[in-house]
This record gives sequence, structure tokens and C-alpha cells, in this order.
Amino acid sequence: MLPQRPYNFYPGPSTLPLQVLEQAREEFLDYQGLGMSIIEMSHRSPAVEAVNNEAQALLRRLMGIPDNYKVLFLQGGASGQFAMAPMNLLAQGRTADYLLTGVFATKAHEEAASIGSTHVAATTAEGQFRRIPSEREITLSADPVYVHLTSNNTIYGTQWRTFPTIEGTPVVVDMSSDILSRPVDVTKFGLIYAGAQKNLGPAGVTIVIIRDDVPHSPSHIPAIFRYETYIKSNSLYNTPPVFAIYMMKLVLQWIEQQGGAEAMEVLNEKKAGLIYDAIDRSNGFYRGHAEESARSRMNITFRLPSEQLEKQCAKEAEAHGLIGLKGHRTVGGMRLSNYNAMTLDGCRAAQDFLADFATRNG
Ligand SMILES: *Cc1c(COP(=O)(O)O)cnc(C)c1O
Repeated sequence: MLPQRPYNFYPGPSTLPLQVLEQAREEFLDYQGLGMSIIEMSHRSPAVEAVNNEAQALLRRLMGIPDNYKVLFLQGGASGQFAMAPMNLLAQGRTADYLLTGVFATKAHEEAASIGSTHVAATTAEGQFRRIPSEREITLSADPVYVHLTSNNTIYGTQWRTFPTIEGTPVVVDMSSDILSRPVDVTKFGLIYAGAQKNLGPAGVTIVIIRDDVPHSPSHIPAIFRYETYIKSNSLYNTPPVFAIYMMKLVLQWIEQQGGAEAMEVLNEKKAGLIYDAIDRSNGFYRGHAEESARSRMNITFRLPSEQLEKQCAKEAEAHGLIGLKGHRTVGGMRLSNYNAMTLDGCRAAQDFLADFATRNG
């Protein structure tokens, strides 16, 4: 018997469904009766090709991706896409607009600025990215080639609840920390990218979903960085991260069994509600970082009255089987990451612990 798993609130890589880990273990030595592991097989073998195709098909079904979009599996993480998106889309003489809502949005902008002309169309940097800009605050440049935004701000704990209406310009979105945590209308976006290691699997694979009419892949950039290369080869240009794609496929099947993005949204709302409830009922002992209207369901960030108490809280939480509550160094305080695979029981345990800790130390 394994000891009971801790409730894992790490921000990414992060907890995965136990059922998925068990299935991977079950199949690890002998994949589908082939007598060897999936990670020992050529990426040109029928078994690996089938995994690649099934993962794509699952993602299309679960996200409702229309036929005029391509689904690609790349490497280099979301950070790779900070550069690859502008390399492919930001033509000379054009400007790309960025909405700055946190650390990753700012990094994405910096990478684009090293490649071409950019414009900051809105920022909530004042007051430490506590909020999401309103539509009125967004000032686009004259004719942007695309507008980039980050759907969930993993470090500050804010999330776009509704996306701004931007017409006539492709919207490029980094969905790394909330992909498939809720239904989204894919047709609102020209390009979606996400690292898998928060909601969809282990680290190592990056998802790119790109609409056919978004101009991309100029011939002067190297083949390895061109979207066109992966479109033409069904993401099998060079050796793909087979194990990460296989694991993602299992997680996608699990999401489908749970009832898809709609069911995930209901569950995530409920789970996040438990933690926010502990914050809101603490008589100011816990201070949420995000403004209420911008609160993320994925990453819940808050401060305690002192750094000493914050340290103590994280330490005591660990003794209660709650792992990974320490906040990111840029915000300080605490962060609980509530991705798809976090269980309701885990959030109940966190709620109980936080309520008790506030009573004892408030
Ligand atoms: C984690 C994260 C990243 C960085 O992802 P890597 O795969 O490590 O490059 C980028 N954007 C967002 C929103 C993230 O949460």
C-alpha cells in the first residue's frame, strides 16, 4: 500500500488524476500487448502515431475546435511560444499589441519586443496586477497584427472571466494555466497556446491551436521555429515528446469521463469557492491579492498579517498533508493552485486548515 497522497497545490507541474497515474503504471512495461513501453517506440510507429492522433482528436472534441484550426504539439514550453508566436506572426512594418496582466504576459511582451514593433494596449501593473483591465481601458494601436493576452495569471491569481471583444484582429492567448478548466469559444481566438503541465499533464509538451487564415511562418525563420513545419508534418517533424503527449492523452480521456470542460468549470468554481470562503470569513486575517471581480479559479493568492505567519502557515499545512502553499516570490504570501485534478476533498481540507489556522493565530 502506498501512503495516502498529499493534497498537492503546486502551481505547475502539478497534481494529476490518480486514475491517470495508475493507468500509466499499468501500461508502462507493456503498451497494449506490444511487449515494450510506449517510450521505447519509434515516433513513426503506428502506436505512437495513434497516440498523437487520439490526443489531437480529444482536444478538438473537448474544446470544440473547428476544422479551420490546426492543433500542434510542440516543445519549448509556453515560454517558447512567447518568442515563436511573434517570430511567425509579427511581420516587418506591423505592430503587435499586448495586454499586460502579470509576470508571464510581461515576459511574452518582452520577447515580442525583441523581435519587432509592439504596443502595450493596457496594463494593470500599478498596484501589483490585482485586476484585469476593463474593455474601456484597452487602447489598441492603429492596425495591430494581433492582440496578445494571458487568460489566467498564474502568479498574481487573476483571470479574465469574460474576454474582451476585439474585432478584425486575431487574438493570441496564453492559456497555460486555465486551458480546459472551463469552456471557451475557440472562434474568438486566432492562436491559442498552452504548456500542458498545469491542467493537462506533465511538463514537456506545448499545445498550439492556430486558425488557418492567420498569416504565419515567413520563410526567413528557421524550419524548427515555423508553425508551417509542424502543420505539414502533423507535429512529427522531429522527435516529439512522446511520453508527455501520451500522458496528456490519458488526462484528456479523464476529463472527457468527468463530463468535459463544462463539468470542470462547475467543479473548479466549487473548489475555488471553498478557499475564497476561508479567506472572506477570516475577518481580514487573510487578505486576497486579487480584486474580487478578477479572482482566478485556478490560482488563489493571499497574504497573512506577517511573513513569519506565512512561513508558519505553509509549514503547518504540510504537516496536515497540504503541499505547495507558498506563494511566488514576486507576490509573497500564499498561493493555492486549484487545477482540474485537485479534488474537492483537497479543497475541503485546505478550507478547514485555513479556518483553523486563522482562529488559532488571528
Ligand atoms: C507556467 C506558465 C508559463 C511558463 O510556462 P513554461 O512551459 O514553463 O514555459 C507561461 N504562461 C503562463 C500563463 C503560465 O502559467
